[in-house]
Amino acid sequence: MAKYTGPSCKLCRREGVPLMLKGRRCLTEKCALKRKKFPPGPPRKRRSKLSDYGIQLREKQKIKRSYMLLEKQFKSIFVEASMMKGVTGDNMMSLLERRLDNVLYRMGFASSRVQARQFIQHRHVTVNNQIVDIPSFRVKENYEVQIRDDFKENTMLEDAIKLSKAVSSVPEWVEVDYDGRTGKIVRLPARQDVLAAFNEQLVVELYSK
Ligand code: SF4
Repeated sequence: MAKYTGPSCKLCRREGVPLMLKGRRCLTEKCALKRKKFPPGPPRKRRSKLSDYGIQLREKQKIKRSYMLLEKQFKSIFVEASMMKGVTGDNMMSLLERRLDNVLYRMGFASSRVQARQFIQHRHVTVNNQIVDIPSFRVKENYEVQIRDDFKENTMLEDAIKLSKAVSSVPEWVEVDYDGRTGKIVRLPARQDVLAAFNEQLVVELYSK
């Protein structure tokens, strides 16, 4: 599957906000946004006043890039959300949160969504005792996520868990047993579970044009 392979920090600088693309490792003084408070590219191309369309586009890019998705993947989630009952923006955020790569990251078994994706693709993760190597796999209520035995003592995994414990960032919709290297979806995530300051309504307006 195609994926973005460029520098993560450049995306944050483009959006002007910390997208936390390096996950919990972003919480340090090394964050590029703290050192370079201007967008990448030549000075003449740097931020100018945005039109309404520009504001909507930037918000869409911000959300899409936070979850490390490409346009096609993101748009198909939006289309699915718009066909569900309820508020499209809320549905979209819930569907994004339910991706397995995000779940692994939220549980603290990976220090970023990129790392979570790598663990999944390398077949280190099972869901309900079945290996799942698709990062976009969507979890449901009561699903159990486990780290496979041969990866339980891995240093990267241990570092991620240590970091996660240090910032106590596990959301209420999951339950985690770090010693057993397992987690459970206790309920589906709702909009209020996403703490990042996204304005998904702008995405709805953008795609509804
Ligand atoms: Fe973004 Fe993290 Fe890089 Fe800061 S360190 S610019 S938040 S990816």
